[in-house]
Amino acid sequence: VDTPAPTKTTSSAPTDSTTAAINTEESNGADPNVRRVVCKRCHEMNHHHRIAPNWHRDVADDPEVLEFMKSKPSALVVHVLDVYDLQGSLLKGLSNFIGHQHRVILVVNKVDLLPKDVHLPRVATYVQRMMKDSGVLNIVAMHVVSARKVHGVRELCADLMALRRRFTQSPPDIYMVGRANVGKSELINAMLRISYGGTQYKVTTFPIPGTTCDVVEIPLQRFRKALVPYTPGEAQRAGGEVIDPGTLYDTPGVFNNYSLAKYLKPDELKLTWPKPHLSVATYGLKCGQSLCIGGLGRIDLQEGGDAATGRIMVSVFSNLPVHITQTKKADDMFDRLAAGELVPDLHPPGRTMTPARAAVLPRLKFVSNHTLSNENATMACADVYFMGVGWVAIAGRFKHAVIQVHSLGGRGAGIRPPLM
Ligand code: GDP
Repeated sequence: VDTPAPTKTTSSAPTDSTTAAINTEESNGADPNVRRVVCKRCHEMNHHHRIAPNWHRDVADDPEVLEFMKSKPSALVVHVLDVYDLQGSLLKGLSNFIGHQHRVILVVNKVDLLPKDVHLPRVATYVQRMMKDSGVLNIVAMHVVSARKVHGVRELCADLMALRRRFTQSPPDIYMVGRANVGKSELINAMLRISYGGTQYKVTTFPIPGTTCDVVEIPLQRFRKALVPYTPGEAQRAGGEVIDPGTLYDTPGVFNNYSLAKYLKPDELKLTWPKPHLSVATYGLKCGQSLCIGGLGRIDLQEGGDAATGRIMVSVFSNLPVHITQTKKADDMFDRLAAGELVPDLHPPGRTMTPARAAVLPRLKFVSNHTLSNENATMACADVYFMGVGWVAIAGRFKHAVIQVHSLGGRGAGIRPPLM
């Protein structure tokens, strides 16, 4: 919301509205004639790092929340994926929910989290393969970006602009869609930053799912040259009348009910939030051993492994604490946790686990069995993903291994081809 600045500008003016709003600020290259106006909820998040306790009720767990788009004319839909949670952030069957008239641009965000030596075109090819049978149709482009580092965002804007330029009379609107917490708002801020060279306009971002609780409309004029394919003068010349430059819509995140991150409290989520160039820890896992990941998931090596050492190698891409023990002991530890006993090796960081909380967590359940072999010792043969909290790459040289995957409630985990 833009308002003229009073003679003495204040940093923020919270209102009672619960709707996320565009806010403005007077620093960082901003126009001194506007002041920052944010809703109370955004103010709490920005200044006190707090979010209302019912945050998770703001978002639906199904893309049905996007069904309103079915009645909209053809638009450009930017489907944002989180590279840290590829399986968890994909909106399967999206085209059925939003209609088939829209063109989809896939954006794989947060690539700054990947190790430095990762070849980004390989990540793009990986995601392209993953999109087969995903129910996301009309994909016209894909971009691998880091909204936080403003990497790849310029190219994304240029592509969006080129696509909009094809429709000279009425360039299509842009909808940002994706699961909660994939970085839609951060991406919009990055686009605004390259349009303005400052942080004059921005939407609220926060590391907890459910930050954006309603559709936020941003006139594309705000993005100036980055997304509006003509100057105001050209707009008039085209047909004599002024063409509306269109709107960018930030939609509320679709909550993933399978995400294992939902079992973590906001403080724990903050502590386990991945940092750029995620550190990777590699362990040897022997036959009969289990790798427990933060008390949320487990991988057992049931059979096989390297002929000489009886081991497979496991590389953990997650900030959750890892504990390796005999499978029998791991069974016992998870039973004790389910009975409400404190089992420190299975706790998320933050010392916030209590017996009462442990007792209401769902039990660890079997997800799937997999038979694997890996002849190339330098490459992983598969990843076991745990939605929202990371993944474990299975590597080492072995002819035969059987692994069993478990997770809390028996959901939100599985196997996929290796990302790296
Ligand atoms: P939204 O719910 O999809 O709008 O997600 P937000 O934009 O609020 O972002 C959720 C969290 O992810 C915030 O803590 C962001 O700072 C973080 N985030 C967003 N983009 C990136 C990125 O490119 N890299 C990293 N490391 N974090 C990001």
